Amino acid sequence: MPTTGHHTLIRGGEIVTDTRQFRADILMRGESIEAIAPQIAAPTGCTTIDARDMLVFPGFIDPHVHIHLPFMGTLAKDTWETASKAALLGGTTTMIEMVCPASGDDPTAALEVWMSNARDRSACDYSFHMGVTRWDDTTEAALTSIVRRGVASFKVFLAYKGALGIGDEILYRTLALASRLGVVVTAHCENETLIAELSRELLAAGRTGPEAHHDSRPPRVEASGVDHLMTFAELTGAETYIVHLSCAEALERALAARARGVRVGIETLIQYLVLDKEDAERPNFEGAKFVMSPPLRDRSNQAVLWNALRRGDIDTVATDHAPFDFATQKRLGEHDFTKIPNGIPSLEERVKVLYGRGVAEGAIDLCTLVRVASTNAAKQFGLHPRKGSIALGADADLVIFDPRARSTISARTHASAVDYSAFEGMSVAGAVRDVWVRGARAVEDGRFVGRVGHGRFLARPHRSASLSMSGGTHG
Ligand SMILES: [Zn+2]
Repeated sequence: MPTTGHHTLIRGGEIVTDTRQFRADILMRGESIEAIAPQIAAPTGCTTIDARDMLVFPGFIDPHVHIHLPFMGTLAKDTWETASKAALLGGTTTMIEMVCPASGDDPTAALEVWMSNARDRSACDYSFHMGVTRWDDTTEAALTSIVRRGVASFKVFLAYKGALGIGDEILYRTLALASRLGVVVTAHCENETLIAELSRELLAAGRTGPEAHHDSRPPRVEASGVDHLMTFAELTGAETYIVHLSCAEALERALAARARGVRVGIETLIQYLVLDKEDAERPNFEGAKFVMSPPLRDRSNQAVLWNALRRGDIDTVATDHAPFDFATQKRLGEHDFTKIPNGIPSLEERVKVLYGRGVAEGAIDLCTLVRVASTNAAKQFGLHPRKGSIALGADADLVIFDPRARSTISARTHASAVDYSAFEGMSVAGAVRDVWVRGARAVEDGRFVGRVGHGRFLARPHRSASLSMSGGTHG
């Protein structure tokens, strides 16, 4: 714990962690939490914040975002400046971005591109998952050295044939290496051959609009991808994490694997909890705003996902934030849904919607909100207890949330650089009032007051005893 630094005292708030709720003051000093107690006397020169009638959460963590994203022939709209600002305004203080090299690109060079995009440009803390999109004689050494630098998780795509997708040999080798290194493999689970064949048939039948996207990758295609990953995980002993699980069929396959001992974390997205496939059927190509993969599902899946969050079957709620403009980029697929850049931006909205539609409407309780939007991601990806907790010595990443306020979501007022919001006009209970990142104020009364460049790269530890880290566990 630092012994110097400015003090900030948050007074009288209702603190919520992943396991309990209690009224207390929190004293921050420098970058850390120095004290938590019912009545803390303000040290000299201390800034005091009145948090009566407010909820105080640990900073939220989004374990799955895309910011620098060259994909489907275009480049996503956000920069680290706009994205980290959007994240903070939505209460997210740490993001983990997917590094997505094109097939055949050198992983070390790709990581450098992604890191240099974030370096000195982020207002919040960040880390990376390393995408594995090729395999040759140099790959194992390159990935091992990337893990040593603190990028202690991989990402593989079972979908996107010919672009980011990998075959079964690479899948097997990646999982086997991850098992030896003690790192998690995050995976996009869909059967790519089925998608390619179904898409071809739909287009041939004249179904070219965004509403056909769902039928090109129905729930069974995702469930099949999950089964496939689970089989490979079982035979390699690797720890896996299913990103953006969208539906009951896929959940059932993941839970069946977990029941037989496969180590698997499960992530869903805020989009799947409140939007559905009818959104992608909106007329005049507006449905393209809602095209992502796996697709938005039949509404009946929403209750299944909320229940799974409540029971602890689903571990995390992320965004898969992927900001492509409607006016120009989504239009690339105007005559062919397979050319619509996939993705829904939701970085700024995740916590607001999870609170407004989840907690305020009784689907989940406050501790579950903290667990699925912060603590579990920190635990899964080696950031706990520094992140995802309100505890002595933890980073002073804190969110003061006003449960009595309301927010209305709109592209006119959001900070993301994308020209639409999939949640346009949605009015939700609650509002993010103040945010700190390592003791520095980033949001005050709902306005961004942070500093671009304050955010730091978080090096994460791997679990292999045989592989030493090149630096400390935190960079
Ligand atoms: Zn993604």
